[in-house]
Amino acid sequence: MEEVVIIGAGPCGLSAAIELKRQGFRPVLLEKECVVHSIYLYPTYMQFFSTPELLEIGGIPFTTPHEKPTRLEALTYYRNVAARSELDIRPYNEVVDIKTARDGDEAPFTLTVRKRSGSVYELKSKRVVVATGYFDRPNLLGIPGEELPKVSHYFREAHPYAGTKVAIIGGSNSAIDAAMELLRAGAEVTVVYRGEQYSPNIKPWVKPIFESMVAKGRISMLFRSRVIAIAEGNVTVSGPEGALAIENDFVLALTGFRPNRTLLKQAGAELTVPEELPFYDPETMETSVPGLYIAGVAASGENANEVFIETGRLHGVAIARHMAGLL
Ligand SMILES: Cc1cc2nc3c(=O)[nH]c(=O)nc-3n(C[C@H](O)[C@H](O)[C@H](O)COP(=O)(O)OP(=O)(O)OC[C@H]3O[C@@H](n4cnc5c(N)ncnc54)[C@H](O)[C@@H]3O)c2cc1C
Repeated sequence: MEEVVIIGAGPCGLSAAIELKRQGFRPVLLEKECVVHSIYLYPTYMQFFSTPELLEIGGIPFTTPHEKPTRLEALTYYRNVAARSELDIRPYNEVVDIKTARDGDEAPFTLTVRKRSGSVYELKSKRVVVATGYFDRPNLLGIPGEELPKVSHYFREAHPYAGTKVAIIGGSNSAIDAAMELLRAGAEVTVVYRGEQYSPNIKPWVKPIFESMVAKGRISMLFRSRVIAIAEGNVTVSGPEGALAIENDFVLALTGFRPNRTLLKQAGAELTVPEELPFYDPETMETSVPGLYIAGVAASGENANEVFIETGRLHGVAIARHMAGLL
């Protein structure tokens, strides 16, 4: 039975593993953190915008009494699916390098893997699936003060911000959800958004409540505005009325994420310049390097939202069928 290495045990890596098993392969998932680590990092009390059946992998039912699952339900679901499918997941094993040998080598890929203890080992493989997601690499603002400890690109929960002044940068679902939760916890919230109007992606059941909070003056919403500098006690916002300094304790820069292409580059995959989008066959998910595949949000372009669980979970089916010679 051929062993196939999958890098990343997110929903899309897990889905690829299940499909590969079904086609008679022996998938090994190398995961640098815990299984579905990105979902673990979501805001603690988050509710998905997807309905449960659209988050299912391997055709295994995701049952919940809720119309939209919570983060905790998804953690339980993916953990159980991995266990029931008897997947070989190696948590806390980070792939730090891939080398691709020239033609003729039976197992052309050599992966260098670092364990949590710091020890390093090498693994050879004939074929590799890169399913490393995007959550490790937030879109940075590139402004003075971004490195201050009061600034975070991740929002977990509102409690630590009670009684403080928080600026949220961004206007997506994450920004709006965080603003609502912060308001309920007693924070003074200003949302700074470069867009002219609300994003169409905001959950339709959240938007009217958010708008009403803005109309009542309980949340300050600044459109066509950018934070241009962050200091210990304030942020400087540039908007239609010019620049103004706003008193501030914490900044949540919820500006999205972008995939890290390092492993693909190391393996010799062709990327566009300067965007660094990987070339791959959308029918098979194979990159320009034979035997090197890409699955999930790692395959997305600059707009990481073009691939999500709903769509990325299907990549594994194509990959497994291609490896099995069915495509
Ligand atoms: C707040 C929030 C809400 C969302 N809600 C939804 C929703 O409702 N519906 C939906 O479809 N999508 C949703 N998404 C998007 C969804 O989370 C992503 O599309 C999804 O996680 C992508 O899955 P993936 O398996 O491609 O990548 P990920 O889930 O990011 O998994 C990649 C894995 O690879 C690991 N990894 C990275 N580098 C290495 C390495 N070098 N070595 C070993 N392992 C590595 C990471 O630790 C991670 O566990 C949401 C995203 C966020 C942030």
